[in-house]
Amino acid sequence: MATLLTGKPVVERLAADLAPRVNALEQAGVTPTLAIVRMGERPDDLSYERTARKRAESLGVAVRLFVLDESAPKEALEAALYEVNQDPSIHGCLLFRPLPAHIDEVQACEQLAPEKDIDGITIASLAAVFTDGDRGFPPATAAACIELLEHYDVPLEGKHVVVVGRSLVVGKPVSMMLLRRNASVTMCHSRTEDLASLCRSADIVICATGRARAFGAEFFSPGQTVLDVGINFDEQGNICGDVDFEAVEPVVGAITPVPGGLGTVTTSVTMAHTVAAAEAALAAREGG
Ligand code: NDP
Repeated sequence: MATLLTGKPVVERLAADLAPRVNALEQAGVTPTLAIVRMGERPDDLSYERTARKRAESLGVAVRLFVLDESAPKEALEAALYEVNQDPSIHGCLLFRPLPAHIDEVQACEQLAPEKDIDGITIASLAAVFTDGDRGFPPATAAACIELLEHYDVPLEGKHVVVVGRSLVVGKPVSMMLLRRNASVTMCHSRTEDLASLCRSADIVICATGRARAFGAEFFSPGQTVLDVGINFDEQGNICGDVDFEAVEPVVGAITPVPGGLGTVTTSVTMAHTVAAAEAALAAREGG
């Protein structure tokens, strides 16, 4: 039986860490506030929005919603992001993606002020991740992987980590964050040859491909730690990860479940970044 790396204790520890910080901000007259910018009514976005609002409320983080029609022109999105940037009572912003096809996503992300980019979507934030800089915030999902590994004391230094998936949301930033912690990282993708044997050779495998239950027992070996980032739906409409949990759990040493694993940590990391952004804004105000 593998150890289950559930998100709940990580979420509880993050909440305990945030409570006195939110309190101190309130004492200074600041309510940490997250703007959620959404275009359209995609079920994924609506579901994440509900979860985020609930988590925010439980932590004392306020949420301001900016909802645009799916067909709204890019100028409308720019105006919403301008409002977010200009409003000093907003500290962080979550822009739901993918954006509708008529919007240039890279250009839209660049409209957000880097100090409010709590999900690592601007080039400035990503540059900090890739250059080991201390400014800005990494993408919340990548940060959640590190948070969970560190919470469960999974050794990283000198360990071989295979990351499957090379998106800017998960695969690339988490690889850089692991390198910074002295892991040896192999980044894999859809053109990787003999992926199964590469995965089997690792100490830690992180699956972030978005393919429901695509990673069966043949990808894993005893003693490994497996992080399943995937949030997918199977043919019956049930939520599942990239890993075939039933087949893999008996093989490996430790594994994150889906649901109840990284997804829930990601939401808390988003709130932690918002609180940190509020603290930075307050410090800048007091300093200047
Ligand atoms: P993308 O679609 O942007 O990237 C998928 C990556 O997987 C690509 O690099 C792709 O390779 C790779 N890939 C696809 N097929 C294969 C294959 N057969 N073998 C090896 N690699 C493959 O997805 P995201 O990174 O945005 O998301 C990945 C998953 O994580 C999704 O399920 C998503 O829902 C989930 N997610 C979860 C979050 C959470 O909070 N837990 C937050 C964000 C995402 P290539 O580059 O060659 O095309």
